[in-house]
Amino acid sequence: MAFTTEATEESSTDSRPDDPLRPGRAIAATLRSTLGPNGLDKMVIDRSGSVVVTNTGATVLDGLEIDAPTGRVIRDAIQSHARHVGDGTTTTALLVGELLDAADGLVERGLHPTSVVDGYARAVSHARNVLDELSVPVDPDDDRLREVASTAVTGRWDEASARRFADITVDALRAVDCDAARLTLHAYPGGELADSERVNGILVDVEGSSTTVDGFGTDDRRALADPTVALVDGEVTTPAAEASGRVTVRSPDDLAAVREHERAAESELVRSVTDRDVDVLVCQKSIDDGAKTELARAGVLPVERTRRDEFDAIARAADATAVTAVADLDRDALGTVESVRRRSVGGGAVIELTGLPGESHESLLLRGGTPHVAEETKRIVGDCLAVARHAASGGGVVPGGGAGAMAVSRAVADRASSVDDRSALALEAFADAVTVIPRTLARNAGADPIDALVALRNRHHDGETAAGVARSGAVRDMFDAGVVEPVAVPARCLEAAVRTAGLVLRVDETLDAEPIEGSDGGGGRGHDHTGDDGHGSDGERGSGGHAGGYPWALSH
Ligand code: ADP
Ligand code: MG
Repeated sequence: MAFTTEATEESSTDSRPDDPLRPGRAIAATLRSTLGPNGLDKMVIDRSGSVVVTNTGATVLDGLEIDAPTGRVIRDAIQSHARHVGDGTTTTALLVGELLDAADGLVERGLHPTSVVDGYARAVSHARNVLDELSVPVDPDDDRLREVASTAVTGRWDEASARRFADITVDALRAVDCDAARLTLHAYPGGELADSERVNGILVDVEGSSTTVDGFGTDDRRALADPTVALVDGEVTTPAAEASGRVTVRSPDDLAAVREHERAAESELVRSVTDRDVDVLVCQKSIDDGAKTELARAGVLPVERTRRDEFDAIARAADATAVTAVADLDRDALGTVESVRRRSVGGGAVIELTGLPGESHESLLLRGGTPHVAEETKRIVGDCLAVARHAASGGGVVPGGGAGAMAVSRAVADRASSVDDRSALALEAFADAVTVIPRTLARNAGADPIDALVALRNRHHDGETAAGVARSGAVRDMFDAGVVEPVAVPARCLEAAVRTAGLVLRVDETLDAEPIEGSDGGGGRGHDHTGDDGHGSDGERGSGGHAGGYPWALSH
């Protein structure tokens, strides 16, 4: 087969450790059964033995122990795509596998890998136009937005939960005029999914941001009504404490004097806060222990080490201006909200600020039985949010369920027939490869993939460009079924898949960047697989010619 290095051909047995195409196929094969609303879960067991049950492509990829260099390149490329788009990991992985498979056949028939890559690139730019033509605009108030969010997460929850969380997310997003920067997600273990709630306000993570809140007790019923809020963007510390490292103490009296001085400085600091009637002092860095206790005693709620984004959000929401030191606090800098209270959640606590006079803010308080479920919930809601944002920001939506893929397939096949050079073969191969999406959706629904594909092709031929494979495995109109995706998702999946396949196809040999030091010879590996984003060790480029190395970076 093409793409093998000499080194492997020599040592080639039935498995070729450096066959660059093999990992792509293996990844696709692993993820295939998780695609779509009928996707099954994977149980991922990592090296430490912890078990994660998930349907999320990105989580499965995280859990795969991939030794082959091309496999890691593929995984990194897919994951970076997924991080940007928020959806489509499995789709991209399947497309990569299929495109590599098709390329393999073409190269065996004598096409140069570069021609394949060029053909794929032409196909994908045509695909983008096809998807744009297929897309319909969506208004932020449109119910389509809910469908977009629930389509992105079907299969990862039961249908009712998917719809409920899609609703919560979309409502929250609308409440902040689709400005996702004003919507924050918090996940806490303990409780049920159903206990998750939307809070019209800001939550400050007491544990997560290592914020210490002294003096407020653990009484959830205690709330501050219309408190004055001050924000200090720095440390709150007394001059005495700062200087304490330089004081030399020679006698007990000296020590007492130093303590006295410190206490006076603390009182001074506390007075400058209380004089301005501050009720809540939000500090971006730490507050001296002594000062914190004094503040609490004086009835001020000190909130320290507030996360930067939360800190900035509070300033905007409370109409306050952050100052760098307590001494700079003046009336103009102070803000207020209607209520501040502490709430215990899942063994931790949050400070909840509601009734915001300035910029509105929404928080989703997500619950899940275990830390893993809570985190997964947060990821899923994050994905709802990402796609809803895409759709609301004007890109428009296309029908899901493989409808877009089918439209692309037909158009690219058409285009292939008008191309008279060799890249026509690559366009045809691309047209076939993208049908992996409807085929897999049908297979996962228990339907016959070929029958579904034929039915789908006929419907599209008759002008029903929104026809796709429904949850039941039957072919139907996806707009009617409420299965819609932001056009950016399928478009970027295709782009990422072509880019990733191209990356692998252009490689004709892998060279080991690692110095051969105490080399074990066989197997061709010896890489450190623990810290995983080192794209090749920059240091010594070893002279090693044995297979399995990783000398090149992703940025190609
Ligand atoms: P990915 O990791 O690629 O997002 P998913 O498992 O989320 O994979 O599956 C996404 C695919 O499932 C998309 O093609 C989407 O259109 C399709 N899909 C989602 N919900 C439905 C549904 N209710 N009916 C049919 N297809 C659906
Ligand atoms: Mg998805």
